[in-house]
Amino acid sequence: MKIWRPYTQMQDAIPPARVSHALGAHIFLQDGQRLFDGISSWWLITHGHCEPRLMEAIRRQTERLEQVVFANFVHQEAEELSTRLAGFLPPRLNRLFFSDNGSTAVEVAMKMAYQSLQQSGKKRKRSFLTFAKAYHGDTCGAMSASGDSAFTEAYTDLRFPVFRFRQPKDLSPEWRAEFRAFVEAKHEEIAALILEPLLQGAGGMIIWPAEIVREISEICRAHGILLIFDEVMTGFGRTGKMFAFEKVGVVPDLLCLSKGLTGGALPLALTVATEEIFSQFLSPQKLLFHGHSFTGNALSCAAANANLKIFQEETVLEKIAVLENAHRRALEKFALPNPRVLGSMGAIELPEQSGYGSAKSQELYQKCFSRGLFLRPLGNTVYLLPPYCASSDDIENAWGVVAEVLSENRS
Ligand SMILES: *Cc1c(COP(=O)(O)O)cnc(C)c1O
Repeated sequence: MKIWRPYTQMQDAIPPARVSHALGAHIFLQDGQRLFDGISSWWLITHGHCEPRLMEAIRRQTERLEQVVFANFVHQEAEELSTRLAGFLPPRLNRLFFSDNGSTAVEVAMKMAYQSLQQSGKKRKRSFLTFAKAYHGDTCGAMSASGDSAFTEAYTDLRFPVFRFRQPKDLSPEWRAEFRAFVEAKHEEIAALILEPLLQGAGGMIIWPAEIVREISEICRAHGILLIFDEVMTGFGRTGKMFAFEKVGVVPDLLCLSKGLTGGALPLALTVATEEIFSQFLSPQKLLFHGHSFTGNALSCAAANANLKIFQEETVLEKIAVLENAHRRALEKFALPNPRVLGSMGAIELPEQSGYGSAKSQELYQKCFSRGLFLRPLGNTVYLLPPYCASSDDIENAWGVVAEVLSENRS
Protein backbone atom coordinates (compact mmCIF):
# COMPACT_ATOMS: atom_id res chain seq x y z
CA MET A 1 0.00 0.00 0.00
CA LYS A 2 1.14 3.52 -0.77
CA ILE A 3 -0.21 6.93 0.17
CA TRP A 4 -2.25 9.11 -2.22
CA ARG A 5 -1.72 12.69 -1.07
CA PRO A 6 -4.35 15.46 -1.22
CA TYR A 7 -4.08 18.15 -3.92
CA THR A 8 -0.93 16.56 -5.27
CA GLN A 9 0.04 15.54 -8.79
CA MET A 10 1.56 12.26 -7.73
CA GLN A 11 3.34 11.66 -11.04
CA ASP A 12 6.07 14.23 -10.43
CA ALA A 13 5.47 14.99 -6.78
CA ILE A 14 8.34 16.08 -4.58
CA PRO A 15 8.53 13.32 -1.95
CA PRO A 16 6.83 14.47 1.28
CA ALA A 17 9.05 15.62 4.11
CA ARG A 18 9.00 13.24 7.06
CA VAL A 19 7.86 15.05 10.22
CA SER A 20 9.10 14.06 13.65
CA HIS A 21 7.15 16.55 15.77
CA ALA A 22 5.68 20.03 15.88
CA LEU A 23 5.73 22.64 18.61
CA GLY A 24 4.40 26.19 18.74
CA ALA A 25 4.84 27.82 15.34
CA HIS A 26 7.32 25.23 14.11
CA ILE A 27 7.39 21.83 12.41
CA PHE A 28 10.45 19.64 12.99
CA LEU A 29 11.60 17.11 10.41
CA GLN A 30 13.28 13.80 11.07
CA ASP A 31 16.43 15.04 9.37
CA GLY A 32 16.65 17.77 12.01
CA GLN A 33 15.35 20.68 9.91
CA ARG A 34 13.09 23.22 11.63
CA LEU A 35 10.35 24.89 9.59
CA PHE A 36 8.24 27.91 10.42
CA ASP A 37 4.61 26.86 9.83
CA GLY A 38 3.63 29.90 7.75
CA ILE A 39 0.10 28.67 7.06
CA SER A 40 -0.94 27.16 10.40
CA SER A 41 -0.99 23.73 8.72
CA TRP A 42 -3.77 24.56 6.23
CA TRP A 43 -5.35 27.27 8.41
CA LEU A 44 -6.02 24.99 11.35
CA ILE A 45 -3.65 25.70 14.22
CA THR A 46 -4.74 28.61 16.42
CA HIS A 47 -2.54 29.06 19.50
CA GLY A 48 0.29 26.76 18.40
CA HIS A 49 1.19 23.15 17.62
CA CYS A 50 0.88 20.74 20.54
CA GLU A 51 -0.38 23.51 22.83
CA PRO A 52 0.10 21.83 26.24
CA ARG A 53 -3.37 22.67 27.61
CA LEU A 54 -5.05 21.32 24.48
CA MET A 55 -2.99 18.15 24.52
CA GLU A 56 -3.72 17.66 28.21
CA ALA A 57 -7.49 18.13 27.65
CA ILE A 58 -7.45 15.48 24.93
CA ARG A 59 -5.39 13.13 27.10
CA ARG A 60 -7.82 13.52 30.01
CA GLN A 61 -10.79 12.91 27.72
CA THR A 62 -9.28 9.65 26.45
CA GLU A 63 -9.84 8.21 29.94
CA ARG A 64 -13.59 8.89 29.89
CA LEU A 65 -15.22 8.75 26.48
CA GLU A 66 -14.24 8.89 22.82
CA GLN A 67 -17.46 8.54 20.77
CA VAL A 68 -21.15 7.72 21.19
CA VAL A 69 -24.16 7.84 18.86
CA PHE A 70 -25.15 11.48 18.96
CA ALA A 71 -28.71 10.73 17.84
CA ASN A 72 -29.28 8.99 21.18
CA PHE A 73 -26.74 10.42 23.59
CA VAL A 74 -25.13 13.62 24.61
CA HIS A 75 -22.04 14.16 26.75
CA GLN A 76 -20.54 16.76 28.98
CA GLU A 77 -17.91 17.90 26.47
CA ALA A 78 -20.55 18.75 23.83
CA GLU A 79 -22.68 20.58 26.39
CA GLU A 80 -19.70 22.50 27.66
CA LEU A 81 -18.84 23.43 24.06
CA SER A 82 -22.31 24.83 23.47
CA THR A 83 -22.03 26.91 26.66
CA ARG A 84 -18.56 28.19 25.83
CA LEU A 85 -19.51 29.04 22.26
CA ALA A 86 -22.60 30.89 23.47
CA GLY A 87 -20.17 33.28 25.16
CA PHE A 88 -18.82 34.25 21.74
CA LEU A 89 -21.97 34.22 19.61
CA PRO A 90 -25.04 36.46 19.64
CA PRO A 91 -28.18 34.85 21.12
CA ARG A 92 -29.77 34.71 17.65
CA LEU A 93 -27.38 31.89 16.73
CA ASN A 94 -28.34 29.20 19.19
CA ARG A 95 -28.66 25.79 17.51
CA LEU A 96 -25.49 23.76 17.07
CA PHE A 97 -25.30 20.96 14.54
CA PHE A 98 -22.11 18.90 14.67
CA SER A 99 -20.14 17.39 11.82
CA ASP A 100 -16.45 16.88 11.19
CA ASN A 101 -14.98 19.16 8.54
CA GLY A 102 -15.49 22.46 6.81
CA SER A 103 -17.09 21.02 3.70
CA THR A 104 -19.72 19.16 5.71
CA ALA A 105 -20.43 22.29 7.78
CA VAL A 106 -21.25 23.97 4.45
CA GLU A 107 -23.27 21.02 3.09
CA VAL A 108 -25.36 21.03 6.25
CA ALA A 109 -25.95 24.80 6.06
CA MET A 110 -27.07 24.50 2.43
CA LYS A 111 -29.44 21.63 3.22
CA MET A 112 -30.84 23.51 6.23
CA ALA A 113 -31.41 26.68 4.23
CA TYR A 114 -33.00 24.89 1.30
CA GLN A 115 -35.17 22.54 3.33
CA SER A 116 -36.34 25.17 5.81
CA LEU A 117 -37.57 27.39 2.97
CA GLN A 118 -39.20 24.49 1.13
CA GLN A 119 -40.97 23.48 4.34
CA SER A 120 -42.13 27.01 5.02
CA GLY A 121 -43.84 27.00 1.61
CA LYS A 122 -41.31 29.09 -0.35
CA LYS A 123 -41.13 26.42 -3.03
CA ARG A 124 -39.40 28.50 -5.68
CA LYS A 125 -36.43 29.27 -3.46
CA ARG A 126 -34.24 26.41 -4.65
CA SER A 127 -30.91 27.94 -5.59
CA PHE A 128 -27.97 29.70 -3.97
CA LEU A 129 -26.15 32.94 -4.60
CA THR A 130 -22.36 32.83 -4.41
CA PHE A 131 -19.34 34.77 -5.71
CA ALA A 132 -16.91 34.01 -8.49
CA LYS A 133 -13.83 33.50 -6.29
CA ALA A 134 -15.59 31.66 -3.49
CA TYR A 135 -14.26 28.46 -1.94
CA HIS A 136 -16.55 26.44 0.30
CA GLY A 137 -15.05 22.95 0.23
CA ASP A 138 -14.57 19.82 -1.85
CA THR A 139 -17.75 17.78 -1.42
CA CYS A 140 -20.26 18.11 -4.27
CA GLY A 141 -22.59 20.67 -2.67
CA ALA A 142 -19.76 22.79 -1.29
CA MET A 143 -18.00 22.49 -4.63
CA SER A 144 -21.16 23.68 -6.41
CA ALA A 145 -21.18 26.80 -4.25
CA SER A 146 -17.49 27.42 -4.93
CA GLY A 147 -16.24 29.44 -7.88
CA ASP A 148 -15.16 27.89 -11.17
CA SER A 149 -11.47 27.12 -10.81
CA ALA A 150 -8.79 24.55 -11.44
CA PHE A 151 -10.13 22.83 -8.30
CA THR A 152 -13.59 22.26 -9.78
CA GLU A 153 -12.96 21.92 -13.52
CA ALA A 154 -12.77 18.13 -13.56
CA TYR A 155 -16.14 17.84 -11.79
CA THR A 156 -18.30 20.23 -13.80
CA ASP A 157 -21.09 17.68 -14.33
CA LEU A 158 -21.24 16.88 -10.63
CA ARG A 159 -21.90 20.47 -9.60
CA PHE A 160 -25.49 21.70 -9.41
CA PRO A 161 -26.16 25.16 -10.82
CA VAL A 162 -26.05 28.21 -8.57
CA PHE A 163 -26.14 31.95 -9.24
CA ARG A 164 -22.51 33.02 -9.28
CA PHE A 165 -22.06 36.77 -9.14
CA ARG A 166 -18.93 38.57 -10.32
CA GLN A 167 -16.52 39.85 -7.68
CA PRO A 168 -16.59 43.45 -6.51
CA LYS A 169 -13.37 44.99 -7.82
CA ASP A 170 -13.76 47.95 -5.47
CA LEU A 171 -16.60 49.87 -3.84
CA SER A 172 -17.83 50.96 -7.25
CA PRO A 173 -21.42 52.18 -7.33
CA GLU A 174 -21.90 50.29 -10.64
CA TRP A 175 -21.13 46.92 -9.06
CA ARG A 176 -23.40 47.67 -6.11
CA ALA A 177 -26.26 48.78 -8.36
CA GLU A 178 -25.82 45.68 -10.50
CA PHE A 179 -25.84 43.41 -7.47
CA ARG A 180 -28.98 45.07 -6.12
CA ALA A 181 -30.74 44.78 -9.50
CA PHE A 182 -29.74 41.12 -9.74
CA VAL A 183 -31.17 40.33 -6.30
CA GLU A 184 -34.35 42.24 -7.07
CA ALA A 185 -34.79 40.21 -10.26
CA LYS A 186 -33.88 36.75 -8.90
CA HIS A 187 -34.66 36.74 -5.17
CA GLU A 188 -37.71 34.50 -5.53
CA GLU A 189 -35.44 31.69 -6.75
CA ILE A 190 -32.67 32.18 -4.18
CA ALA A 191 -32.72 30.33 -0.86
CA ALA A 192 -29.48 31.72 0.55
CA LEU A 193 -26.40 33.79 -0.05
CA ILE A 194 -23.26 31.89 0.88
CA LEU A 195 -20.19 33.94 1.61
CA GLU A 196 -16.78 33.93 3.26
CA PRO A 197 -17.18 37.22 5.12
CA LEU A 198 -14.28 39.72 4.84
CA LEU A 199 -11.69 37.30 3.50
CA GLN A 200 -11.98 34.84 0.63
CA GLY A 201 -9.25 32.34 1.42
CA ALA A 202 -8.58 29.78 -1.30
CA GLY A 203 -9.74 32.25 -3.98
CA GLY A 204 -6.49 34.12 -3.31
CA MET A 205 -6.71 35.82 0.11
CA ILE A 206 -9.06 38.50 -1.20
CA ILE A 207 -10.05 41.08 1.41
CA TRP A 208 -13.55 42.53 1.18
CA PRO A 209 -14.39 45.85 2.79
CA ALA A 210 -16.80 45.40 5.71
CA GLU A 211 -19.19 47.97 4.14
CA ILE A 212 -19.60 45.83 1.03
CA VAL A 213 -20.34 42.69 3.04
CA ARG A 214 -22.82 44.64 5.17
CA GLU A 215 -24.52 46.13 2.13
CA ILE A 216 -24.91 42.88 0.19
CA SER A 217 -26.10 41.14 3.34
CA GLU A 218 -28.73 43.81 3.92
CA ILE A 219 -29.90 43.70 0.30
CA CYS A 220 -30.28 39.91 0.49
CA ARG A 221 -32.01 39.94 3.86
CA ALA A 222 -34.47 42.59 2.67
CA HIS A 223 -35.43 40.18 -0.13
CA GLY A 224 -36.00 37.10 2.04
CA ILE A 225 -32.65 35.47 1.20
CA LEU A 226 -31.00 33.63 4.09
CA LEU A 227 -27.38 34.47 4.94
CA ILE A 228 -24.87 31.65 5.28
CA PHE A 229 -21.49 32.88 6.50
CA ASP A 230 -18.76 30.34 5.89
CA GLU A 231 -16.28 31.17 8.64
CA VAL A 232 -14.45 27.86 8.34
CA MET A 233 -11.28 29.85 7.67
CA THR A 234 -12.06 33.32 9.11
CA GLY A 235 -13.33 32.01 12.46
CA PHE A 236 -11.37 31.90 15.72
CA GLY A 237 -9.40 35.08 15.34
CA ARG A 238 -7.89 34.98 11.85
CA THR A 239 -9.26 38.40 10.83
CA GLY A 240 -8.50 40.03 14.19
CA LYS A 241 -11.90 39.43 15.82
CA MET A 242 -13.15 36.09 17.09
CA PHE A 243 -15.42 35.96 14.03
CA ALA A 244 -15.38 38.06 10.87
CA PHE A 245 -19.12 38.75 11.11
CA GLU A 246 -18.41 40.89 14.19
CA LYS A 247 -16.34 43.25 12.02
CA VAL A 248 -19.08 43.27 9.40
CA GLY A 249 -21.79 44.01 11.94
CA VAL A 250 -24.23 41.46 10.51
CA VAL A 251 -25.37 38.28 12.26
CA PRO A 252 -25.97 35.53 9.66
CA ASP A 253 -28.80 32.96 9.76
CA LEU A 254 -26.34 30.10 9.43
CA LEU A 255 -22.69 30.06 10.47
CA CYS A 256 -20.19 27.39 9.37
CA LEU A 257 -17.22 26.66 11.64
CA SER A 258 -14.38 24.15 11.57
CA LYS A 259 -10.58 24.37 11.12
CA GLY A 260 -9.58 26.51 14.15
CA LEU A 261 -12.50 25.22 16.24
CA THR A 262 -10.37 22.56 17.96
CA GLY A 263 -7.27 24.73 17.83
CA GLY A 264 -6.42 22.60 14.80
CA ALA A 265 -5.81 19.50 16.88
CA LEU A 266 -8.71 17.22 15.88
CA PRO A 267 -11.44 17.24 13.20
CA LEU A 268 -14.72 18.89 14.19
CA ALA A 269 -17.23 21.23 12.55
CA LEU A 270 -20.35 23.10 13.52
CA THR A 271 -23.23 24.56 11.58
CA VAL A 272 -24.87 27.10 13.86
CA ALA A 273 -28.48 28.00 13.01
CA THR A 274 -31.05 30.45 14.27
CA GLU A 275 -34.08 29.24 16.23
CA GLU A 276 -36.20 30.44 13.32
CA ILE A 277 -34.56 27.99 10.90
CA PHE A 278 -34.57 25.21 13.50
CA SER A 279 -38.31 25.69 14.08
CA GLN A 280 -39.04 24.85 10.43
CA PHE A 281 -38.03 21.25 11.16
CA LEU A 282 -40.41 20.62 14.04
CA SER A 283 -42.99 18.23 12.65
CA PRO A 284 -43.08 14.62 11.40
CA GLN A 285 -41.42 14.15 7.98
CA LYS A 286 -39.75 17.54 8.33
CA LEU A 287 -36.64 16.41 10.15
CA LEU A 288 -33.17 17.22 8.92
CA PHE A 289 -32.00 14.09 7.14
CA HIS A 290 -28.37 14.48 7.92
CA GLY A 291 -25.81 13.03 10.32
CA HIS A 292 -22.26 11.72 10.20
CA SER A 293 -20.77 8.70 11.94
CA PHE A 294 -18.39 10.84 13.95
CA THR A 295 -20.96 13.43 15.05
CA GLY A 296 -20.00 15.14 18.30
CA ASN A 297 -16.75 13.24 18.85
CA ALA A 298 -15.93 13.71 22.53
CA LEU A 299 -12.15 13.99 22.02
CA SER A 300 -12.66 16.71 19.42
CA CYS A 301 -15.12 18.52 21.70
CA ALA A 302 -12.58 18.39 24.54
CA ALA A 303 -9.99 19.97 22.23
CA ALA A 304 -12.49 22.66 21.18
CA ASN A 305 -13.26 23.48 24.81
CA ALA A 306 -9.57 23.81 25.66
CA ASN A 307 -9.11 26.03 22.59
CA LEU A 308 -12.02 28.32 23.56
CA LYS A 309 -10.85 28.43 27.17
CA ILE A 310 -7.58 29.98 26.01
CA PHE A 311 -9.53 32.59 24.03
CA GLN A 312 -11.58 33.28 27.17
CA GLU A 313 -8.67 33.51 29.59
CA GLU A 314 -5.94 35.15 27.53
CA THR A 315 -5.69 38.24 25.37
CA VAL A 316 -5.39 36.25 22.14
CA LEU A 317 -6.85 39.01 19.97
CA GLU A 318 -4.13 41.36 21.22
CA LYS A 319 -1.50 38.84 20.08
CA ILE A 320 -3.19 38.81 16.67
CA ALA A 321 -3.06 42.62 16.52
CA VAL A 322 0.70 42.37 17.14
CA LEU A 323 1.00 39.93 14.22
CA GLU A 324 -1.07 42.25 12.03
CA ASN A 325 1.38 45.11 12.74
CA ALA A 326 4.34 42.83 12.15
CA HIS A 327 2.96 41.92 8.70
CA ARG A 328 2.49 45.60 7.81
CA ARG A 329 5.98 46.57 8.92
CA ALA A 330 7.68 43.64 7.17
CA LEU A 331 5.77 44.00 3.90
CA GLU A 332 6.75 47.66 3.81
CA LYS A 333 10.35 47.01 4.81
CA PHE A 334 10.88 44.48 2.02
CA ALA A 335 8.75 46.49 -0.45
CA LEU A 336 6.84 43.39 -1.52
CA PRO A 337 4.31 43.72 -4.37
CA ASN A 338 0.62 44.43 -3.72
CA PRO A 339 0.70 43.83 0.04
CA ARG A 340 -2.49 43.33 2.02
CA VAL A 341 -3.06 42.47 5.64
CA LEU A 342 -6.02 41.41 7.76
CA GLY A 343 -5.60 40.06 11.27
CA SER A 344 -3.03 37.26 11.29
CA MET A 345 -3.04 37.10 7.46
CA GLY A 346 -0.55 38.92 5.27
CA ALA A 347 -0.40 38.43 1.49
CA ILE A 348 1.35 39.68 -1.62
CA GLU A 349 0.63 39.21 -5.29
CA LEU A 350 3.31 38.16 -7.77
CA PRO A 351 3.05 39.71 -11.21
CA GLU A 352 4.10 36.54 -13.06
CA GLN A 353 1.50 34.05 -14.19
CA SER A 354 2.01 31.08 -11.97
CA GLY A 355 -1.09 28.94 -11.51
CA TYR A 356 -1.79 26.42 -8.76
CA GLY A 357 1.03 23.91 -8.63
CA SER A 358 2.89 25.53 -11.55
CA ALA A 359 6.65 25.20 -11.92
CA LYS A 360 7.16 28.79 -10.67
CA SER A 361 5.15 28.36 -7.51
CA GLN A 362 6.77 24.95 -6.92
CA GLU A 363 10.17 26.61 -7.17
CA LEU A 364 9.21 29.36 -4.73
CA TYR A 365 7.82 26.73 -2.39
CA GLN A 366 11.01 24.69 -2.48
CA LYS A 367 13.36 27.63 -2.04
CA CYS A 368 11.41 28.87 0.98
CA PHE A 369 11.27 25.34 2.36
CA SER A 370 15.03 24.91 2.16
CA ARG A 371 15.37 28.19 4.09
CA GLY A 372 13.12 26.95 6.89
CA LEU A 373 9.80 28.47 5.81
CA PHE A 374 6.75 26.35 5.03
CA LEU A 375 4.18 28.12 2.86
CA ARG A 376 1.91 27.13 -0.04
CA PRO A 377 1.33 29.85 -2.64
CA LEU A 378 -2.18 30.07 -4.09
CA GLY A 379 -1.32 30.75 -7.73
CA ASN A 380 0.22 34.24 -7.76
CA THR A 381 -0.76 34.86 -4.16
CA VAL A 382 1.91 34.29 -1.54
CA TYR A 383 0.54 34.58 1.97
CA LEU A 384 1.37 33.92 5.59
CA LEU A 385 -1.21 32.89 8.15
CA PRO A 386 0.81 31.67 11.10
CA PRO A 387 -0.31 30.29 14.47
CA TYR A 388 -0.92 33.03 17.05
CA CYS A 389 2.13 32.07 19.12
CA ALA A 390 4.36 33.30 16.27
CA SER A 391 6.48 36.33 17.18
CA SER A 392 6.94 39.57 15.28
CA ASP A 393 10.46 38.39 14.50
CA ASP A 394 9.09 35.15 13.02
CA ILE A 395 6.88 37.23 10.69
CA GLU A 396 9.71 39.54 9.71
CA ASN A 397 12.06 36.62 9.07
CA ALA A 398 9.45 34.81 6.98
CA TRP A 399 8.76 37.81 4.74
CA GLY A 400 12.52 38.34 4.56
CA VAL A 401 12.91 34.81 3.18
CA VAL A 402 10.19 35.43 0.58
CA ALA A 403 11.85 38.72 -0.44
CA GLU A 404 15.24 37.01 -0.73
CA VAL A 405 13.87 34.19 -2.89
CA LEU A 406 12.03 36.62 -5.15
CA SER A 407 15.07 38.83 -5.67
CA GLU A 408 17.17 35.75 -6.43
CA ASN A 409 14.63 34.68 -9.05
CA ARG A 410 14.76 38.11 -10.69
CA SER A 411 18.52 38.26 -11.00
C1 LIG B 1 -11.11 24.99 4.11
C2 LIG B 1 -12.41 25.60 3.85
C3 LIG B 1 -13.55 24.81 3.69
C4 LIG B 1 -13.49 23.30 3.65
O1 LIG B 1 -13.07 22.76 4.84
P1 LIG B 1 -12.51 21.24 4.87
O2 LIG B 1 -12.34 20.96 6.31
O3 LIG B 1 -11.22 21.27 4.11
O4 LIG B 1 -13.53 20.39 4.23
C5 LIG B 1 -14.76 25.43 3.53
N1 LIG B 1 -14.85 26.78 3.50
C6 LIG B 1 -13.79 27.58 3.66
C7 LIG B 1 -13.96 29.05 3.66
C8 LIG B 1 -12.52 27.01 3.82
O5 LIG B 1 -11.45 27.80 3.92
